[in-house]
Amino acid sequence: MNIYNMTFHALEAYFSERGENKAKAKIIFNNLYRKRITNFDLSSRINEILKKDFNFESIKIIEKSSCSNAVKLLFGLYDNNSVEAVLMRHDYGNALCISTQVGCNMGCVFCQSGAMKKVRDLQPFEMVLQLLKAEEELGEKINRVTLMGIGEPLDNFENVMDFINIIGHRHGRGTAPRHITISTCGVPKLDELHEISCNLAISLHAPNNEIRSRLMPVNNAYSIENIIDFTKTRKKKTTLEYIMLAGINDSDDNARELAELVRGVNCYINLIPYNETSLNFARSSTERMANFYSILIQSGIRAVVRKEFGSELKAACGQLSSERTL
Ligand code: SF4
Repeated sequence: MNIYNMTFHALEAYFSERGENKAKAKIIFNNLYRKRITNFDLSSRINEILKKDFNFESIKIIEKSSCSNAVKLLFGLYDNNSVEAVLMRHDYGNALCISTQVGCNMGCVFCQSGAMKKVRDLQPFEMVLQLLKAEEELGEKINRVTLMGIGEPLDNFENVMDFINIIGHRHGRGTAPRHITISTCGVPKLDELHEISCNLAISLHAPNNEIRSRLMPVNNAYSIENIIDFTKTRKKKTTLEYIMLAGINDSDDNARELAELVRGVNCYINLIPYNETSLNFARSSTERMANFYSILIQSGIRAVVRKEFGSELKAACGQLSSERTL
């Protein structure tokens, strides 16, 4: 078993089952996530116990490319698959967008990752190590984590919850839930997250079911009404993502319909400029996006246009893939 797969409580249980003081879990988390030890070489009784059951199998950075405000890292996994993570430099600190699966089964038609089927889920250690390796490679602290890379996080539910638990634990890295964003295309599993304190970004991408079903097959399982109902019953504000696709969902009528749809809902709309890939979609013009945005604002809807990161690296939303793209 990989040591980075272990939640704090699982480690406590591990020690208890062996008649050891479960407080040893605190020492291990401190060693792994604060001191950043990467082996059990130091001779100690705890290490001797752990050596029998755990390993430090890692992931490797196999390519790295940078631009002014982003760094893309391609990670090689133990089975020769690869995934990408992107560091984004904001004014308020660094955020890392990590992958949760190799490929994705959701099939959103505008998405490079969705063009490849899911190969497998990532284990918690493969998500934890994207973060630790990125910090080590870049020599910078990463304050925020977004689960917005390759894969649908809620299609890998247990592993993603363990990952959040591991990086968030106060005896380890202590990444607060308000600094973690789960980005989902909106699967039925979302209904289990009403109480979660992490930020949620749900891909809406259309003002009605007709357009959404054309863009996102998941709409047949979890429709726009499901998303709005979920968002209404949540205490925290939810981000609704809206990717701007020329001639598909970006007309003035679409903007007015969207404004009506989300009126009174505790959310804000994040308008995302589309980053063109080999797929057959084009980004909305700057003028079209500005009109769309103005209609939302004039209708009293909170909206922002997302700042772009890494589009020249093919590292932006919808452009990541599990194949080498550089
Ligand atoms: S947008 Fe997200 S959920 Fe949809 S196919 Fe791409 S990676 Fe999967």
